[in-house]
Amino acid sequence: MAGSGRAEPRVRAALLVLALGALVGGALLGGGLGLAGCGPPGGEVLDVILVSLDTTRPDHLSGLGASRNTTPTLARLASEGAVFDSMRSAAPWTLPSHVSLFTGLPPAVHDVVIDFQSLDRSRRTLGEIFGDAGFRTMGVFSAPYVHGHYGFARGMDFYERATLDPMIFDLPRSQMKAQIGQTERRSHTEVTSRLVVDRALNLRDHVARERNLMFLHFFDPHYDYKAPPAYLRRFADPAYAGPVTGDNVSDPAIVHAGMPAADLAQLQALYDAELAWVDDNLKRLVEAIEASGRARQTVLVITSDHGEEFLEHGHYGHRSTLHDEELRVPCIVWAPGRVKPGTVVKDEVANYDVLPTLMDYAGIAPEPSVYGRSLRPLIEGGSLPPRPSMAALSFFSHEPAGYYVQHDSMVFQGLKLIRRIHVAWSPKDERNLSGRPDPASEQIEVYDLAADPRELHDLAAENDPRVPGLRRAFDEECRRQAGALAAYQRRGSDSSGDTGLTLQESMQAVGYLAAGRARDAKEKPAATGETPAPAEPVPDPGPTGPR
Ligand SMILES: [Zn+2]
Repeated sequence: MAGSGRAEPRVRAALLVLALGALVGGALLGGGLGLAGCGPPGGEVLDVILVSLDTTRPDHLSGLGASRNTTPTLARLASEGAVFDSMRSAAPWTLPSHVSLFTGLPPAVHDVVIDFQSLDRSRRTLGEIFGDAGFRTMGVFSAPYVHGHYGFARGMDFYERATLDPMIFDLPRSQMKAQIGQTERRSHTEVTSRLVVDRALNLRDHVARERNLMFLHFFDPHYDYKAPPAYLRRFADPAYAGPVTGDNVSDPAIVHAGMPAADLAQLQALYDAELAWVDDNLKRLVEAIEASGRARQTVLVITSDHGEEFLEHGHYGHRSTLHDEELRVPCIVWAPGRVKPGTVVKDEVANYDVLPTLMDYAGIAPEPSVYGRSLRPLIEGGSLPPRPSMAALSFFSHEPAGYYVQHDSMVFQGLKLIRRIHVAWSPKDERNLSGRPDPASEQIEVYDLAADPRELHDLAAENDPRVPGLRRAFDEECRRQAGALAAYQRRGSDSSGDTGLTLQESMQAVGYLAAGRARDAKEKPAATGETPAPAEPVPDPGPTGPR
């Protein structure tokens, strides 16, 4: 992003680049928007910006399927850029999904699948890759699962927290355990989007260089839903008199399967208000990019880490299933002069393809260890061979003890396969995840996403002839990922980011289990929020809601 004011030489240089770019684009190429694939009229990409909107499902966004005018800025960016219509996250919760965004690896390869893990140093990150390529690297985040503790700050020149209060991982390790339970709620209740943009613009104005990589994480769409009241008034029924408020959306006594339709509508109005609030702050960011004069040297990608379930499969929140209401994410690529306006890509892609796509636009050579692939050919009207889009999720079971449930999904050529399998595990040695799967426990579901986008009709249960071929493709992809994981393991590991916290402590530390409440979990009637949720098995530590 461009500097301004005090960084005059850089601005002059940028203007020169802009002028030259306009000259080249205008005189030699016929210039202007709509020439994607004919060479960038703006010259090389100087600013790469990756925006993660936490918990944002595409069908609630204007221009991407919403019936309400929730996000006019995103609608505008989508109309001026490219939209991926079928991108899925690699995980339905914040930590492993963001690790996929940062590494270009699916969870089975980056191996951050549960709360107490952090990214091994053998995996290179967004910050390291762009930093090594000469970019100034900057990040702003607003939730504990995106804290630098997990590895996200690696290679970042600046990685700033956009919350007023410190997080547990800001404390010295010696104090972490004692402080668990003291700080966890704030990240959910604080309203941070304005601060995210403020910090981003501050970094731009004071430390940006000629070429810059910026990561921005907006947490407000994640519960609690506490957008400023003016935003709620735009979406909520003024006559609503039920119990749902922004503060209690994760209370399973209020939000549950079978809740009254008016309550569910209020819940979604609260969520849409958050999206509108975030969109207005994104507008400030886009206006700053345009005012800098560097829009045509910018590639801006806006995506999410996962969706949000509103009881489509019986749950509220996320980290519950691998169904599309939790897995599908928006992806908008806005790069004036490089991306043809109104481009819509229907191909099935994964969020671990985002990093190699950014690298491609930045002119950074592909790295063999990055599992995803650049989507730029699709944006530019070309094609890529179909490739599975994979996702994963694990639940832990204390009752009955002795296993965790590994969920894996694959979307490939219009079909979706979900496998659940039990893996040996001991609560007494809960940090040991190296147990063997039990083949007898395996369950497979298959859905035709075109005919059955809500994933209600299981083709595996009726021996559909498409199932065996899909299963073979799934096994082949699992073997491929296992090989990629083994290659990393052969290089050795460095888990210096490990805090030594247990699973329960780790979840408490980031606000997903109330301290001292984990043993009560199995007594709760329903699951909400970013906790292990579904009916089988009974998870413990489990669904106490997000606090
Ligand atoms: Zn998230």
